[in-house]
Amino acid sequence: MGRREPSAIFLNTGMSGRLGVLLLVSGPSGSGKTSLCQALRDAGEVVYSISCTTRRRREGELDGEHYHFLSEEDFERRVSAGDFLEHAVVHGNRYGTLKGSVLERLESGTDVAMDIDVQGAALVRGCEDAVIQRVLVDVFVMPPSMEELEKRLSGRGTESAGEMEVRLANAAAEMAHAEEYGHRIVSGTREEDYERLLGVLEEARVG
Ligand code: 5GP
Repeated sequence: MGRREPSAIFLNTGMSGRLGVLLLVSGPSGSGKTSLCQALRDAGEVVYSISCTTRRRREGELDGEHYHFLSEEDFERRVSAGDFLEHAVVHGNRYGTLKGSVLERLESGTDVAMDIDVQGAALVRGCEDAVIQRVLVDVFVMPPSMEELEKRLSGRGTESAGEMEVRLANAAAEMAHAEEYGHRIVSGTREEDYERLLGVLEEARVG
């Protein structure tokens, strides 16, 4: 008789006896995905995975809270050290998820939300980690229209005209990947979006 692969249920699940859900959220810049993930964190539903990035820090952003802001050299050093679960160039800057900010938490039963782009999402889907494969749930947040996306992006006033142009140009390319996600949310009000994202998370917790 052939050896059976152990079921993921028998993987180390710490004291809680369950694995956490990995909620991977993508969508074009201005879709509202970051605020949604942060709202889930603020409500105590998830731990938010804090990414590393080489992009400049926006006014009001805190190192270690919104991102770990790294120089190109430090980012590259962490790539070489194998610290990243995934990393990608997005809108001309580097972004990456630290393995340490995800795996141990999932194994101890904590639900984790990741706000990452479509390339990062594909890398996480393709990774061989048995825990991630078991608990990954992916959601794409779509703007109701490109006009609305442009309005939201210019309304938040965090990007220069040049940066906004890059983000809008990339939005169409990102939207083409929406079909790869298990769940899609067409953004409405902030409350509606939040309820729907929470619904996906709750379904994954029991499923
Ligand atoms: P922003 O500069 O607006 O904070 O983020 C720009 C884009 O980078 C967003 O699409 C966001 O989802 C993505 N992003 C943020 N963190 C990561 C990460 O760790 N990995 C990848 N691949 N993308 C990320």
